[in-house]
Amino acid sequence: MRTKHGVLAVAAWGLLAADPRAGATAPPAYDLVIRGGRVMDPESGLDAVRDVAIAKGRIAAVSAEPLPGAPAIDAHGLVVAPGFIDLHAHGVDPANYALRAADGVTTSLELEVGTADVDGFYAEREGHTLVNFGASIGHIPVRMAVMGDSPRFLPAATARAATEAGTDAQVQEVARRIRAGLERGAPAVGMGIQYTGAASRFEVLDVFREAARAAASVHVHMRYNGTKEPLSSTTALEEVLAAATVTGAPLQVVHVHSTSVAFTARHLRLIGEAHARGLDVTTECYPYTAGMTDLSSGVFDEGWRDALGIDYGDLLWPATGERLTAETFARYRPQGGLVAIFSIPEDAVRAALAHPLVMVASDSVLRDGLGHPRSAGTNARVLGHYVREQRVLPLMEALRKLSLMPAQRLERRVPGFRNKGRIRVGADADLTLFDQERVIDRSTYAAPATPPDGIPYVLVAGVPVVDRGQVRRDVAPGRGVRAPLR
Ligand SMILES: [Zn+2]
Repeated sequence: MRTKHGVLAVAAWGLLAADPRAGATAPPAYDLVIRGGRVMDPESGLDAVRDVAIAKGRIAAVSAEPLPGAPAIDAHGLVVAPGFIDLHAHGVDPANYALRAADGVTTSLELEVGTADVDGFYAEREGHTLVNFGASIGHIPVRMAVMGDSPRFLPAATARAATEAGTDAQVQEVARRIRAGLERGAPAVGMGIQYTGAASRFEVLDVFREAARAAASVHVHMRYNGTKEPLSSTTALEEVLAAATVTGAPLQVVHVHSTSVAFTARHLRLIGEAHARGLDVTTECYPYTAGMTDLSSGVFDEGWRDALGIDYGDLLWPATGERLTAETFARYRPQGGLVAIFSIPEDAVRAALAHPLVMVASDSVLRDGLGHPRSAGTNARVLGHYVREQRVLPLMEALRKLSLMPAQRLERRVPGFRNKGRIRVGADADLTLFDQERVIDRSTYAAPATPPDGIPYVLVAGVPVVDRGQVRRDVAPGRGVRAPLR
């Protein structure tokens, strides 16, 4: 009933909106038609050849019969999927958004580190951004500001935000700024407890309380990584599961595999059991066996080799391509910089990708062309390597992890997400078209910005931002996605 009503309503509106210069004989009710693609919608399970028509930035019709109207995109041989929603992407400049668009992303969100200035973040990007965008109110940048550190992506291990517990007044101020960010429509709350290791368990609970009051999910990089007790990732997981349980805040554990390493399968079981008992907890991963973070951060505090079961030689310094030694580690650590950490077992990546509560999120950032191949290859690698070549998960399940699940994670707080991650009449025309026989990542640790193959079209609000495989620089259909202001 609802679908039928939607078709009629939107079709009528489309006709009214038609260009009168087209003449009485041609009824171009649509702005664009995607012809003959294999339409896959993870919400309804639709997997069939359909025409998809777009009007005014939304899907106006999905039809087994050919739809009239031009212009059209010939999608024969291509999968037509909901645009990919990346919940965890640190690069928030035009170059990073362009890389992500080439990898099929239509909504790019920085929900882990986030921002301390929600209004500023959105104002800076509105009207001139390629893809939809957003950022959480971030505990890390808020804590750095309150503790008097100078602004930086992540606090150095010696920064006040990382080393000082803070007075009661400072902790209250942190909570107040989190609340203020949520009142300004931040879609979620971000935390990276490992980077702010001096934050007490009670401060963490205060942040979760603020999130719970706003029905906002907490996207958290947990306090410890690795398997070494007593400061293990299991302890860290128990901390956030407890915080979600007692406060009621929805919980998103970020990059479960890079934090849990050899314990990934055990932790997925734990998360699954908590979920089965009614806790709103989900998690995410990227399809690589190396993580990346700042060498000067708390991740490399005393004991990191033991915790992660790796050595200096498992660190790759992208600036020069060298593997580190004790000596170069000591030399580079004070200045800091991005470093790749080969710490994630391949079976942890596979266990995560195959688990029903795990979404795909890139954790990407590229600076001056340096970084991790996940910045340009995450989604193509899931589709090409892990779905087609390795058969770790079915294609429809992968699409659910890339589009529908991230939308569902946020839609309670941000109603706009009910119209993303789906292909149905009335949904936003954010669409990714790819060739499942060809799609593959091409980015490497040596050349991390190389775009993937096999993703010829990406549409944001019906506007092609990737057209015949080329990222367009002359359009900016991206919109800020944020919760209703209170
Ligand atoms: Zn992280």
